[in-house]
Amino acid sequence: PTTETHFGFETVLEERRRAKVKGVAKKYDVMNDMMSLGIHRVWKDLLLWKMRPIPGTQLLDVAGGTGDIAFRFLNYVQAQHHRKQKRQLRAQQNLSWEEIAKKYQNEEDSLGGSHVMVCDINKEMLKVGMQKAFAQGHKAGLSWVLGDAEELPFNDDKFDIYTIAFGIRNVTHIDQALQEAHRVLKPGGRFLCLEFSQVNNPLISRLYDLYSFQVIPVLGEVIAGDWKSYQYLIESIRRFPSQEEFKEMIEDAGFHKVTYESLTSGIVAIHSGFKL
Ligand code: SAM
Repeated sequence: PTTETHFGFETVLEERRRAKVKGVAKKYDVMNDMMSLGIHRVWKDLLLWKMRPIPGTQLLDVAGGTGDIAFRFLNYVQAQHHRKQKRQLRAQQNLSWEEIAKKYQNEEDSLGGSHVMVCDINKEMLKVGMQKAFAQGHKAGLSWVLGDAEELPFNDDKFDIYTIAFGIRNVTHIDQALQEAHRVLKPGGRFLCLEFSQVNNPLISRLYDLYSFQVIPVLGEVIAGDWKSYQYLIESIRRFPSQEEFKEMIEDAGFHKVTYESLTSGIVAIHSGFKL
């Protein structure tokens, strides 16, 4: 429906879409918790559990403005590194306390060389994320970049893992974003996407429809003063391809060993693929 680029329709639609997303930025956290009854936190934890990053992992989190995936990643690698340090400390009983302090005081070191690059098209979302990073004490191993998933501002073969959580649905040309994901990943790198999907249980599906159309826009109006953005959110969820269709799109972009896991009866799914 947006192919009339020569009339500039696409640009107008794009601008309108960006403006809508921007308006939502600030109330984002509250709304996420209210809408998903807090379950979005579990889905994001599961994404990390599936990722299982190892020390030194270079992660690119696209559409990651609020930092939700980035902070989980940093906490995960930090905890993992601390466990390793504890084991090493036990094995180095002969060190003096000065030697120990010197060895383990550097904050960068506590990440074992891991790094997350957060990329988002919306400055306001990045701002929300940066403020949250400051509040949560995340400084090391984290960078913020303004950029479009369809035209990533990075060189080829740069990252070990690419994540996109509740972001690809908002991208105009999903196939283009998938190709970009493939381009910036190193050979052997992994693509992981957490996104709303198709509910596979008829009873849950009816309840979900009722909740989506009757409750979510009302919550949007009451909490964020923005009925339309949340109606748009529901519509974009409905338009998004099913688990199988999206799997095929990921394969078409050149990824291998593509799999998916439906969570909460398919309300969301995590898709995974590898660049070989
Ligand atoms: N990943 C975060 C999370 O799970 O909490 C934020 C998800 S939020 C629903 C969607 C994000 O996608 C917004 O921050 C928005 O600015 C971003 N976004 C939309 N279109 C984008 C694009 N073309 N490129 C990069 N980011 C985009």
